[in-house]
Amino acid sequence: MQALAGKVALVTGAGSGIGRANSVLMAARGAAVIVNDLDAPAAEQTVALIRQAGGVARACIADVSDGASVAHAFALAQRSLGPVDVLVNNAGIPSGMPAFEEIDEAAIDRMFDVTVKGAMLCTRSVLPAMKARRSGKIVNTSSITAYGSHSRGSVYAAAKGAIISLTRAWAREFAQWNIHVNAVAPGRVRTPMTAGLSADPAYREEVRRRVPLGRRGEPEEIAAVVAFLASSDADYMTGQVLSPNGGEIM
Ligand code: NAP
Repeated sequence: MQALAGKVALVTGAGSGIGRANSVLMAARGAAVIVNDLDAPAAEQTVALIRQAGGVARACIADVSDGASVAHAFALAQRSLGPVDVLVNNAGIPSGMPAFEEIDEAAIDRMFDVTVKGAMLCTRSVLPAMKARRSGKIVNTSSITAYGSHSRGSVYAAAKGAIISLTRAWAREFAQWNIHVNAVAPGRVRTPMTAGLSADPAYREEVRRRVPLGRRGEPEEIAAVVAFLASSDADYMTGQVLSPNGGEIM
């Protein structure tokens, strides 16, 4: 299925986990993919996976929380692949599950810089071209933690809650330019971000108890939802949050 043929997609944090799966699937569906990450070798690995499968991709190294770096790297990448049709704001950092008073100020700043300011800076970088062409799809990455699914990790949850607010506000603001803004709010997904948890028997028991489907999700299962939101199949959707979470929240 070439649902994204002729499109240029930019995925942030695409050197790993869900971002890598998003990039690989969108390339398989015909998009040329700009693979952003902080980590150059990781981004190049995603690019190599896409090229090995016959797709088109190029790396774009930038820290999403740094406006100058985003503007420079995104402009360079778009000069080679063309203006971005699909932006997936995926880059994120883990917070672990600390009690609230255990999180220091620098960690709070970093969480909001990467998650919230990062999505703002990346969206701002692609928006003028989307507006000019009166077309665009933005898919943001929230989390079920935004709905209060966990008893710890409140700073991460708050940043992911802000992503839902941004999604709805941008959907309303950008609709007049035919720019659709939706979000995905994954449940527990098996990625490098959560790798440490696999070995913890208490965590595995918690998954069995709390997730009706009885397991964690795979990055590809999130990517399928993101690719749908990025495609014309979702042309009547904006301001929505889809949550692939195995039934943990309903
Ligand atoms: P991951 O495997 O750690 O991938 C995140 C990627 O983002 C990493 O390659 C990371 O690079 C990169 N990144 C971090 N900060 C960045 C920055 N400032 N600029 C550019 N890239 C940056 O995590 P994941 O599990 O795939 O998570 C992807 C998204 O899904 C995140 O937004 C996460 O919060 C969200 N999510 C994940 C889960 C889950 O269970 N895994 C559940 C709900 C939501 P480094 O490795 O160099 O830091």
